[in-house]
Amino acid sequence: LVFRDVLTGLFNLRYFDQQLAKEWARATRNGSALSVILVDVDFFKHFNDLYGHIAGDKCLTSVAQTLVLAVARPRDIAARFGGEEFVILLPETDEAGAQEVAERCQRLVEKLQIPHEKSGDNPYVSFSMGVGTVTPSPDMEPTAFINAVDKLLYAAKQNGRNRIETADLA
Ligand code: GH3
Ligand code: MG
Ligand code: MG
Repeated sequence: LVFRDVLTGLFNLRYFDQQLAKEWARATRNGSALSVILVDVDFFKHFNDLYGHIAGDKCLTSVAQTLVLAVARPRDIAARFGGEEFVILLPETDEAGAQEVAERCQRLVEKLQIPHEKSGDNPYVSFSMGVGTVTPSPDMEPTAFINAVDKLLYAAKQNGRNRIETADLA
Protein backbone atom coordinates (compact mmCIF):
# COMPACT_ATOMS: atom_id res chain seq x y z
CA LEU A 1 0.00 0.00 0.00
CA VAL A 2 2.89 2.39 0.60
CA PHE A 3 3.64 2.05 -3.12
CA ARG A 4 0.16 3.07 -4.30
CA ASP A 5 -1.26 6.46 -5.20
CA VAL A 6 -4.41 6.96 -3.08
CA LEU A 7 -6.58 8.69 -5.70
CA THR A 8 -5.89 6.58 -8.79
CA GLY A 9 -4.67 3.28 -7.35
CA LEU A 10 -1.66 3.43 -9.68
CA PHE A 11 1.87 2.97 -8.39
CA ASN A 12 3.29 6.13 -6.84
CA LEU A 13 6.43 8.07 -7.71
CA ARG A 14 8.44 6.43 -4.97
CA TYR A 15 7.79 2.99 -6.46
CA PHE A 16 8.49 4.24 -9.97
CA ASP A 17 11.86 5.67 -8.88
CA GLN A 18 12.76 2.40 -7.21
CA GLN A 19 11.86 0.31 -10.26
CA LEU A 20 13.58 2.73 -12.62
CA ALA A 21 16.81 2.36 -10.62
CA LYS A 22 16.53 -1.44 -10.77
CA GLU A 23 15.67 -1.60 -14.46
CA TRP A 24 18.36 0.96 -15.28
CA ALA A 25 20.98 -1.23 -13.60
CA ARG A 26 19.67 -4.33 -15.30
CA ALA A 27 19.60 -2.68 -18.74
CA THR A 28 23.15 -1.41 -18.22
CA ARG A 29 24.35 -4.94 -17.44
CA ASN A 30 22.47 -6.51 -20.36
CA GLY A 31 22.98 -3.76 -22.91
CA SER A 32 19.25 -3.61 -23.48
CA ALA A 33 17.00 -0.67 -24.29
CA LEU A 34 14.56 0.88 -21.83
CA SER A 35 11.77 3.33 -22.55
CA VAL A 36 9.79 5.86 -20.53
CA ILE A 37 6.55 7.63 -21.46
CA LEU A 38 5.58 10.84 -19.66
CA VAL A 39 1.86 11.52 -19.93
CA ASP A 40 0.28 14.88 -19.11
CA VAL A 41 -3.45 15.66 -19.28
CA ASP A 42 -4.10 18.63 -21.59
CA PHE A 43 -5.68 21.82 -20.23
CA PHE A 44 -6.49 20.17 -16.93
CA LYS A 45 -6.60 23.42 -14.99
CA HIS A 46 -9.45 24.48 -17.30
CA PHE A 47 -11.14 21.13 -16.64
CA ASN A 48 -11.16 21.77 -12.88
CA ASP A 49 -12.33 25.34 -13.40
CA LEU A 50 -15.19 24.22 -15.67
CA TYR A 51 -16.42 21.05 -13.96
CA GLY A 52 -15.07 21.27 -10.41
CA HIS A 53 -12.36 19.54 -8.43
CA ILE A 54 -14.41 16.42 -7.66
CA ALA A 55 -15.07 15.85 -11.36
CA GLY A 56 -11.35 16.50 -11.86
CA ASP A 57 -10.47 13.74 -9.42
CA LYS A 58 -12.89 11.36 -11.17
CA CYS A 59 -11.35 12.22 -14.51
CA LEU A 60 -7.84 11.46 -13.22
CA THR A 61 -9.00 8.10 -11.88
CA SER A 62 -10.56 7.22 -15.25
CA VAL A 63 -7.60 8.24 -17.38
CA ALA A 64 -5.25 6.42 -15.01
CA GLN A 65 -7.12 3.19 -15.79
CA THR A 66 -6.44 3.62 -19.51
CA LEU A 67 -2.72 3.58 -18.75
CA VAL A 68 -3.09 0.32 -16.85
CA LEU A 69 -4.87 -1.14 -19.89
CA ALA A 70 -2.21 0.18 -22.26
CA VAL A 71 0.71 -1.70 -20.72
CA ALA A 72 1.00 -5.40 -21.34
CA ARG A 73 4.19 -6.95 -19.96
CA PRO A 74 4.70 -8.06 -16.36
CA ARG A 75 7.59 -5.63 -15.68
CA ASP A 76 5.85 -2.62 -17.27
CA ILE A 77 4.78 -0.02 -14.71
CA ALA A 78 2.20 2.79 -14.88
CA ALA A 79 2.59 5.31 -12.06
CA ARG A 80 1.33 8.73 -11.01
CA PHE A 81 4.17 11.15 -11.49
CA GLY A 82 2.32 13.89 -9.61
CA GLY A 83 -0.79 16.05 -10.16
CA GLU A 84 -2.19 15.33 -13.64
CA GLU A 85 1.02 13.71 -14.85
CA PHE A 86 1.71 10.02 -15.23
CA VAL A 87 4.69 7.92 -16.18
CA ILE A 88 5.10 4.53 -17.82
CA LEU A 89 8.25 2.44 -17.49
CA LEU A 90 8.88 -0.07 -20.28
CA PRO A 91 11.92 -2.29 -19.67
CA GLU A 92 13.49 -4.03 -22.68
CA THR A 93 11.45 -1.90 -25.06
CA ASP A 94 12.79 -0.03 -28.09
CA GLU A 95 11.53 3.21 -29.63
CA ALA A 96 9.02 1.49 -31.91
CA GLY A 97 7.58 -0.55 -29.06
CA ALA A 98 7.26 2.51 -26.82
CA GLN A 99 5.62 4.50 -29.62
CA GLU A 100 3.08 1.70 -29.96
CA VAL A 101 2.21 1.85 -26.25
CA ALA A 102 1.90 5.65 -26.38
CA GLU A 103 -0.46 5.39 -29.36
CA ARG A 104 -2.51 2.85 -27.42
CA CYS A 105 -2.76 5.35 -24.51
CA GLN A 106 -3.93 8.02 -26.93
CA ARG A 107 -6.57 5.74 -28.47
CA LEU A 108 -7.84 4.60 -25.07
CA VAL A 109 -8.24 8.10 -23.64
CA GLU A 110 -9.92 9.19 -26.89
CA LYS A 111 -12.35 6.31 -26.48
CA LEU A 112 -13.34 7.49 -22.99
CA GLN A 113 -14.78 10.67 -24.56
CA ILE A 114 -14.69 12.68 -21.32
CA PRO A 115 -16.20 16.02 -22.36
CA HIS A 116 -13.84 18.99 -22.06
CA GLU A 117 -15.06 22.24 -23.56
CA LYS A 118 -11.73 24.02 -23.28
CA SER A 119 -9.36 21.39 -24.58
CA GLY A 120 -8.29 23.16 -27.76
CA ASP A 121 -9.72 21.86 -31.04
CA ASN A 122 -10.81 18.60 -29.50
CA PRO A 123 -13.95 18.46 -27.31
CA TYR A 124 -12.63 15.63 -25.08
CA VAL A 125 -9.90 15.09 -22.50
CA SER A 126 -6.61 14.26 -24.20
CA PHE A 127 -2.96 13.54 -23.39
CA SER A 128 0.33 15.02 -24.48
CA MET A 129 3.19 12.53 -24.28
CA GLY A 130 6.96 12.45 -24.35
CA VAL A 131 8.47 9.10 -25.28
CA GLY A 132 12.17 8.42 -24.72
CA THR A 133 14.30 5.34 -25.30
CA VAL A 134 17.80 4.75 -24.00
CA THR A 135 20.38 1.99 -23.78
CA PRO A 136 21.95 3.02 -20.48
CA SER A 137 25.69 3.03 -19.86
CA PRO A 138 27.47 3.28 -16.49
CA ASP A 139 28.24 6.99 -16.94
CA MET A 140 24.58 7.93 -17.43
CA GLU A 141 22.11 9.05 -14.77
CA PRO A 142 18.44 8.05 -14.83
CA THR A 143 17.45 11.59 -13.77
CA ALA A 144 19.13 13.07 -16.86
CA PHE A 145 17.15 10.63 -18.99
CA ILE A 146 13.85 11.57 -17.30
CA ASN A 147 14.67 15.26 -17.81
CA ALA A 148 15.24 14.59 -21.51
CA VAL A 149 11.87 12.82 -21.77
CA ASP A 150 10.28 15.78 -19.97
CA LYS A 151 11.67 18.05 -22.71
CA LEU A 152 9.92 15.85 -25.29
CA LEU A 153 6.67 16.23 -23.35
CA TYR A 154 7.20 19.98 -23.34
CA ALA A 155 7.70 19.85 -27.12
CA ALA A 156 4.42 17.92 -27.48
CA LYS A 157 2.70 20.77 -25.59
CA GLN A 158 4.38 23.44 -27.69
CA ASN A 159 3.49 21.66 -30.92
CA GLY A 160 -0.23 21.79 -30.15
CA ARG A 161 -1.00 19.14 -27.46
CA ASN A 162 -2.91 15.87 -27.95
CA ARG A 163 0.25 14.44 -29.54
CA ILE A 164 3.29 12.25 -29.02
CA GLU A 165 6.94 13.31 -29.32
CA THR A 166 9.39 10.44 -29.54
CA ALA A 167 13.19 10.25 -29.52
CA ASP A 168 15.95 7.71 -29.19
CA LEU A 169 18.11 9.34 -26.52
CA ALA A 170 20.85 6.71 -26.58
P1 GH3 B 1 -1.19 21.83 -20.04
O1 GH3 B 1 -2.05 21.43 -21.20
O2 GH3 B 1 -0.11 22.77 -20.44
O3 GH3 B 1 -0.66 20.64 -19.32
O4 GH3 B 1 -2.14 22.65 -19.06
P2 GH3 B 1 -2.72 22.16 -17.65
O5 GH3 B 1 -3.80 23.09 -17.26
O6 GH3 B 1 -3.05 20.70 -17.70
O7 GH3 B 1 -1.44 22.30 -16.72
P3 GH3 B 1 -1.21 23.11 -15.38
O8 GH3 B 1 0.08 22.59 -14.86
O9 GH3 B 1 -1.36 24.58 -15.62
O10 GH3 B 1 -2.38 22.68 -14.42
C1 GH3 B 1 -2.47 21.43 -13.85
C2 GH3 B 1 -3.75 21.37 -13.07
O11 GH3 B 1 -3.96 20.07 -12.52
C3 GH3 B 1 -3.78 22.35 -11.91
C4 GH3 B 1 -4.15 21.51 -10.70
O12 GH3 B 1 -5.13 22.12 -9.94
C5 GH3 B 1 -4.68 20.23 -11.31
N1 GH3 B 1 -4.48 19.08 -10.45
C6 GH3 B 1 -3.31 18.55 -10.04
N2 GH3 B 1 -3.52 17.50 -9.23
C7 GH3 B 1 -4.88 17.34 -9.12
C8 GH3 B 1 -5.73 16.43 -8.41
O13 GH3 B 1 -5.29 15.52 -7.71
N3 GH3 B 1 -7.08 16.59 -8.56
C9 GH3 B 1 -7.60 17.56 -9.34
N4 GH3 B 1 -8.92 17.65 -9.43
N5 GH3 B 1 -6.82 18.45 -9.99
C10 GH3 B 1 -5.49 18.34 -9.90
MG1 MG C 1 1.35 19.11 -15.90
MG1 MG D 1 -1.51 19.27 -18.02
